[in-house]
Amino acid sequence: MIKINPIAAPGILQKKGHQWRDALCAARQDYYQQLADFEAGNIAQKPVHPSADKKKYAHKQVKTYLQRMFGQKCAYCESLVTAVAYQHVEHFRPQSIYPYLAYEWYNLLLACEVCNSGHKGNQFPLMDASQPEENRSNPCARDGNDANALVNPCFDNPEDFFDFDDEWLLCRNNNLRAQYTRDVCGLNRDDLRDARRMVLDPITAVAEYLLLLVKNRQQNADRIRNLATRIQKYTESSSPYSAMVSSKLRSLGINLAELL
Ligand SMILES: [Zn+2]
Repeated sequence: MIKINPIAAPGILQKKGHQWRDALCAARQDYYQQLADFEAGNIAQKPVHPSADKKKYAHKQVKTYLQRMFGQKCAYCESLVTAVAYQHVEHFRPQSIYPYLAYEWYNLLLACEVCNSGHKGNQFPLMDASQPEENRSNPCARDGNDANALVNPCFDNPEDFFDFDDEWLLCRNNNLRAQYTRDVCGLNRDDLRDARRMVLDPITAVAEYLLLLVKNRQQNADRIRNLATRIQKYTESSSPYSAMVSSKLRSLGINLAELL
């Protein structure tokens, strides 16, 4: 996970977001009234919990703006997504529990399907270890002011929470929020660690060679600069697993800025 700098909301959300939100809140209110009727035996058909409209929160303009912030990567696991699948517009606070935030720009991220649907789903632990539920009597009462345990790369600096030991994500000082995020999003899952390893191994080999060249710096100046430039690309925010690569370089004592 890397720090993401938020940009202003897309016009479509600025213009329509509150109207869409109010309609969803009203639909949820109706739903709970019907559910009460159903539970009392007054109606035969069990109502369906109305979801936020994907065509609206994942509107083309919303996705374009999110891609400006997140590039082609998942907000949580830093995998490149578009090569094999589509990026999901992810609700940081799940819309099933927080309809008030279903079309709220600051609540939207881009994530891969595995982090979004396969792992996080509707989980949203709070700092008191509770899992929030939708407020039945007033579905829009839950806003973004409760104490989220999950790390949000738009508001938190992931470097304060995470480090790496090779392809393994570590939680700094056993930080509780880091642990929740790692576990809820599955950030040490097997296939993800395999994918990180595929990036890490060749970079480690090149970095170790670079260290050998640095021992005779004057003689190897051009090659050092060339290799450092190539490695630097893997630390850029658009590159997959850039936080892991930067951590590896730190652990090897390589400061690219010094070598370029
Ligand atoms: Zn992911």
